[in-house]
Amino acid sequence: MRFQEPAADILARLDELRAADAPTHGGRVLSYVYDTGLAELDELAAAAIRAVQPVNGLDPTTFTSVATLERELIAFVRELLHGDADVVGTVTTGGTESCLLAVKTARDAWLAARGLEPGAGRPRLVAPVTVHAAFQKAAHYFGLELDLVPVGPSGGVAADAIAARLGDDVALVVVSAPSYPFAALDPIEAVAALGAERGIPVHVDACIGGLVLPFWPGLAPWDFRVPGVTSVSADLHKFGYAPKGVSVLLQRGRDRQRRQFFATTRWPGYPVVNPTILGSKSAGPLAAAWAIVRALGREGFQDLADSCRRSTEALRAAVEGIEGLRVVGSPVGPLLAVAADDAAAPERRVDPHHWADAVRTRGWVLQLQPGAQQSDETALPPTTHLTITPVTEAGLPELVPALVAAADEVRGVPHVDGAELLALLPTLDSVPDSETAWVLLQGVGLGGGAELPAQQAPLLALIETLPPPVAERLLIELIARLAE
Ligand SMILES: *Cc1c(COP(=O)(O)O)cnc(C)c1O
Repeated sequence: MRFQEPAADILARLDELRAADAPTHGGRVLSYVYDTGLAELDELAAAAIRAVQPVNGLDPTTFTSVATLERELIAFVRELLHGDADVVGTVTTGGTESCLLAVKTARDAWLAARGLEPGAGRPRLVAPVTVHAAFQKAAHYFGLELDLVPVGPSGGVAADAIAARLGDDVALVVVSAPSYPFAALDPIEAVAALGAERGIPVHVDACIGGLVLPFWPGLAPWDFRVPGVTSVSADLHKFGYAPKGVSVLLQRGRDRQRRQFFATTRWPGYPVVNPTILGSKSAGPLAAAWAIVRALGREGFQDLADSCRRSTEALRAAVEGIEGLRVVGSPVGPLLAVAADDAAAPERRVDPHHWADAVRTRGWVLQLQPGAQQSDETALPPTTHLTITPVTEAGLPELVPALVAAADEVRGVPHVDGAELLALLPTLDSVPDSETAWVLLQGVGLGGGAELPAQQAPLLALIETLPPPVAERLLIELIARLAE
């Protein structure tokens, strides 16, 4: 068959598009991408994806390779996280899906224990405010009341604060190892003991830490060694270094885990049995993760984690050495958040968002995180997030001076005043519709195309100031228009 466009031209166009992306290799982006810097590992992953390219991961009885890959990958992660014979698992398409399924399992177990049908009750999900947004999504999708517990100034939650929220209507407590925003390792042993005592399941979200904390020294037990931990999520597409689309959800107790599944024989088509949310799915990321785990082995993971730890310590020391900035709390694992140092005089403080924008002009992309008010009236500061991967180490000699120079450039510049920005916008008495939202976005210089403005501090200030439903609606419009 003659193609309407030659393959070479199509791929050239793809290369052109890719060239405009933020760089996925070389450590320039300190979030989203988890790069070992080992080209041969990327090649291996690509070859593994190609080998299973036509396979449908939906049906491991027709494509038996899928069952074997899953079994072996789960076995590796289960052993790493000290799961015994009572711990069973599933490979999912990512952290969000693992988290969604942990919540669905807990909801269905809660309903079944009370003889209720889905939709009949509205159980609570209790978690620190720092719990990943995937649990907000899970509560939204599955009809749970999200009960978020404030954290202290170090970003960590007190077990007592969780204890105060427990009751018969709680279907699940979620804690993180560590949390994404501040890298706090939640008090997992204490919370799991509370859960065990009250018969409430406890999920440990180790999406980011699951494949790296086992190689981090000096941590209190946070995985299946802790009685009362009923499930753990761990992403292979983060510190498992696999391409996107693969995570593991481990659950304690077969009968419990079976509530994660969906099965139906009540339609005229093939019998459906899905452990996860998707139907037809790629086996590519699974095969890539499986190949990477075999290639690296525990020793390889240890070496890569050691590199991450050296870089994290170096960056932590570098930030602490910058006048006007501070590292938030006591981060655990290869990530940290940076805030303005309130102990410094205002004119010597460095706003973390202006700092991130200034670092960006020097060629590194850091992630801005909004400040927020908690339900107890205490404030979480605006911060900038850094995830450190094995490639970070080689770049440190350039990165550290860039962090210092960027701070020197913006020291004393105050945080963008969201209220001043808001004054420029027409007042809204309701959540805007698509057209209004689009006009507003253009009014603040957004909506010009796929690229966000070079200065993200104003955007974050708007997010901090607008009522969340309005901010969320504007962001939905911004992203939705990209596909139009
Ligand atoms: C990344 C992450 C998730 C969600 O994972 P995705 O893979 O982005 O869907 C959940 N929890 C934590 C702590 C994470 O870091």
